[in-house]
Amino acid sequence: MTATTAALPETPCAACGATDYAYRAVLWPELVKAWELGPDDEACINRQQGLHCRACGNNLRMISLAAGLLRALGAAGPLEAFCRGKPALRLLEINTAGFLTRFLRELPGHRLVEYPDFDMMALGLDDGAFDVVVHSDSLEHVPDPVRGLAECLRVLRPGGLCVFTVPILAGRLTRSREGLPPSHHGAASTATDDQLVRTEFGADFWKYVLEAGFDSCETYAYEYPAALVAVARKAGNAP
Ligand SMILES: [Zn+2]
Repeated sequence: MTATTAALPETPCAACGATDYAYRAVLWPELVKAWELGPDDEACINRQQGLHCRACGNNLRMISLAAGLLRALGAAGPLEAFCRGKPALRLLEINTAGFLTRFLRELPGHRLVEYPDFDMMALGLDDGAFDVVVHSDSLEHVPDPVRGLAECLRVLRPGGLCVFTVPILAGRLTRSREGLPPSHHGAASTATDDQLVRTEFGADFWKYVLEAGFDSCETYAYEYPAALVAVARKAGNAP
């Protein structure tokens, strides 16, 4: 589905089930220039980050992550109701996934780990300890994204899923920002090192997932091109 930048969806929020959306643009001219965004890219990012559910506060990025997770699990939504049902699911959340955390933490097998205490490239968690790993717009800040994904793979059980978002500009190919001027998520004046963007992901983002050793990488278009979710599967069946 494509939509104009500010069009409000008629479908219920996959996170909480409400149908009460609002939109506000999040980008400003200096940032658009620094990121070399064309009008389509600018509209895409504004929609992804700026369209949000007024009931639970999640933006389109988080809502699509919730939808992608439910879909990958074959579960009915919204995520809030799913988690309240306390299914036996060992879910690792790496860095808070916006306002989804408050729903995810209802899962008895939920664990949240955050940077800098936990580094995605060396999590220090047991092999095969989780059924699902979730992260949202973290991978672009990791110095070596393949290593970060390989670490997600390691902590998953056979057949486990890594469901995540990264900022993807579908009209571009992925590039490393090594050697380019520093680019941060957020205002440059208040940005910290962990907001530094190391990789700008494009249409070939799946390469990194497969290089990390995952068996498959599905791109789920909750809304194309503003809300894409990666669903990576580890080879094997549940023990
Ligand atoms: Zn909601």
